[in-house]
Amino acid sequence: MTLWTSEDAVAATGGNATRDWQANGVSIDTRTIRQGDLFVALKDVRDGHDFVAQALEKGAAAALVSHVPDGVADDAPLLIVDDVLDGLEALGRAGRARMNGKVIGVTGSVGKTSTKEMLRAALAKQGRVHAAEASYNNHWGVPLTLARMPADTDFAIIEIGMSNPGEIAPLSKMARPHAALITTIAPAHIGAFGHIDGIAHEKAAIFQGLVPAGAAIIPTGLSTTAILRQAADDVGAPILSFGPEGEARLLSSQPEGETLQLRGTLSGKPINFTLRSVGPHFAENAMGVLATVSAIGADVIEAAKGLGDWLPPQGRGAVEQLGGIRLIDDAFNANPNSMRAGLGTLSRLPAQRRVAILGDMLELGPDEAEQHRALAADPVMASVDLVHAAGPLMRNLYDALPEAKRGIWSESADDLASRVDELVQEGDTVLIKGSKSSYISRVVQALRKAG
Ligand code: ATP
Repeated sequence: MTLWTSEDAVAATGGNATRDWQANGVSIDTRTIRQGDLFVALKDVRDGHDFVAQALEKGAAAALVSHVPDGVADDAPLLIVDDVLDGLEALGRAGRARMNGKVIGVTGSVGKTSTKEMLRAALAKQGRVHAAEASYNNHWGVPLTLARMPADTDFAIIEIGMSNPGEIAPLSKMARPHAALITTIAPAHIGAFGHIDGIAHEKAAIFQGLVPAGAAIIPTGLSTTAILRQAADDVGAPILSFGPEGEARLLSSQPEGETLQLRGTLSGKPINFTLRSVGPHFAENAMGVLATVSAIGADVIEAAKGLGDWLPPQGRGAVEQLGGIRLIDDAFNANPNSMRAGLGTLSRLPAQRRVAILGDMLELGPDEAEQHRALAADPVMASVDLVHAAGPLMRNLYDALPEAKRGIWSESADDLASRVDELVQEGDTVLIKGSKSSYISRVVQALRKAG
């Protein structure tokens, strides 16, 4: 189905089309480009213009460029704009403008991607859902997701992230959500922000992009909840809160095998549902999801049923059986909050022995060593039998553990990966978690190979 005609794209971007074309998708990567896509020649580590010829060879319908690249014919199907990122943003805005469904914006220090996927599951049976397949939440990911949105989308779920201050508000203004959900505020990437209040202010900037009367969905029980509430009030957004004392809250949460049986209430109405994860943080996120569903006027009971189809995405707490080992693959990323959540999941699953294989948590700022050490005394560590650790920061945690819990510490995750036989045994339940750049995921790969 046609997503963009050259005519619509010209109208959106103010660029010049070298000839008429029709694209049924949008791509920024020639490795994954599909026949009929519009290739957007973004400049990142490499200049996308160097790949235009290849994109066209692979069947791209056209390319969005700022000049005709070397090796590309003047009459090739191109849309020439002053700046390619501006052009993509313009397509994103136009994609948003022609869509008449509901848009949900999701941000937060942790849980954005898994919550986006929960929303997808919650709304899947209620209309056409559009959401990025990956964590496309940055300055090009948000416009790309909007540019890819079919005009007849009923529900769009747009993840909005940040690495630097000031990034969220413009992205939210592009997405113009009807409801903006903040999953939680925690010290992630705190290096750039100095203090958790700064992170809360920054995340709350998502409310600036809300459509008039669009709702703010905020977590309760945090030291920063008041900041979020104030930010929503400042833009006149109605608030729906979730968490302890929130309008959406859990009444009980019962682990049953690898699932949680949940009873909650939303604005005084009971909701019972099942999640296919025992992670208590996911149960909290789910209440945020249901509050959001209610804010956009979709069916909450159907959504709660739909949540039963959700599974944690790969690397974010997905549980799998590898031979005689139960593996919780949480290796995609980590900060102290999600680390505690991951250890909480481990402590709730039945096991002969619970093993945590942990890599460094990065970007924590000046007290990074202390934040690693503090985990050793955290109650959530009580039911962990053995900890293997990789990296100089994790050394702080390792050294603070009682002797009996200390497994192997190594400078590198690669070294641990080469010794998987020494790390686990049949009957173990194993959590693997660390920041992406700790490369602890290599231990997951090694275990899969061995299993
Ligand atoms: P990133 O920006 O790094 O992609 P994200 O915000 O998209 O992260 P997810 O990828 O969904 O977050 O989850 C990251 C980790 O945080 C996972 O380990 C997940 O289990 C955990 N997590 C999800 N929600 C919460 C929460 N509310 N509290 C603590 N940890 C959470």
